[in-house]
Amino acid sequence: MGLGECLIGAAELRNVTQVLRGQTLFRYYGVGNAPYPNSFASRVERAGEKMHDVPYALGVSSGTAALEVALGALGVGPGDEVIIPVWSWVSCFSAIVRVGGQPVLAEVDDTLNLDPNEIQRLMTPRTRGVLVVHYQGVPADLTPIIRLAKARGLWVLEDNAESLGTSYKGKPVGSWGDIAICSFQQRKVVTTGEGGMVLTRSAKLYERAVRMSDLGLYRAEHQTRAPGRELMFPGSNFRMSEMTAAVALAQLARVAPMIRKVRASRDAMRAQIGEIPGVTWRRIPDPKGDIGFETYLFMPTAEQARAVRARAGERGITLTPHTGTYAQTAREYVKNRSTHAGIRGPFQHFETWPAPGYRPEDFPRTHDLAERLIAIPLGVLFTKSEAAHIGRVLREEILRELA
Ligand SMILES: *Cc1c(COP(=O)(O)O)cnc(C)c1O
Repeated sequence: MGLGECLIGAAELRNVTQVLRGQTLFRYYGVGNAPYPNSFASRVERAGEKMHDVPYALGVSSGTAALEVALGALGVGPGDEVIIPVWSWVSCFSAIVRVGGQPVLAEVDDTLNLDPNEIQRLMTPRTRGVLVVHYQGVPADLTPIIRLAKARGLWVLEDNAESLGTSYKGKPVGSWGDIAICSFQQRKVVTTGEGGMVLTRSAKLYERAVRMSDLGLYRAEHQTRAPGRELMFPGSNFRMSEMTAAVALAQLARVAPMIRKVRASRDAMRAQIGEIPGVTWRRIPDPKGDIGFETYLFMPTAEQARAVRARAGERGITLTPHTGTYAQTAREYVKNRSTHAGIRGPFQHFETWPAPGYRPEDFPRTHDLAERLIAIPLGVLFTKSEAAHIGRVLREEILRELA
């Protein structure tokens, strides 16, 4: 189960009831066009800004929409290349294709996040930016990524859909790049069923993000936050509804205590496993800033990982990641370069397909890590003793396998 999903309670109910009682389901006006100044959406945005220590947050309809809005705000279009980790969610790839750009796939390292050295290897004259994914509760190593990107004039977009509430070197994740997104989908850290947010320190990117999400408009509410300076362009409709915002406001307040609880369970589990020769752990660039709802270790071989997963499974413990994130090279749309317009799109100029850079064999390191990994998910409702039990079982099975 998702973390926030387990905690839906009185505060969510109270807020949603208030929206329905007031018949104010649209953020910009209430019944009969009545002014509706203190919308839940605007309050969620203020809460998002405070949580991330950035001046601008924008609520949108999903994390996928947030990615498309962010890429549009950055001006990504046909001919532009964006570097993304090959180990990433559908939308990291699809949002770039949707705005006409070309996703360029990069290896991950033992953090299971983008390997900073890939920026140099994949850079071409058409590269515009880097989309960093903070995979399952652990922020990427942002300092080298941002340094290497900036040195080449590239922007950095942080996809924080899976790691809301994390920090890196004492600063909130989502405040490091030029722009960032998060998601409130059912399986994420907090949930509104569907929902998302865009975060930025740039008034210009904020205005462009608003216009991307609201038909190209830039309404009075946003003008008061940053005066409009951009031309109108045809935007889409990715606005956040008040029902979504009502739930989001309640859920965001749950993040800090939730993370404290999950970390305590993780520590209890981890203490039972201890260190085992041959077993390596997912590298956490800043151990003070991750969540801990999914801990990863790597077995020496893929067979050993499979065996440990199977035997722990027989003892009632599931050791697979709670996410649909996996290598893009295994997805149908990469295998056949299809877009909504057939093959017309960013990959039409390749004579043969799959072209180098889009085949599984182009990512040996990522595939090796993926085959050897064991994911240890810990929900927010786990007690410390349940978590410790998982750790003990896992230690036994790993030692048996390595004996
Ligand atoms: C879930 C997810 C998204 C998309 O969020 P939705 O709200 O489901 O559209 C984007 N990126 C990553 C890494 C995700 O895990």
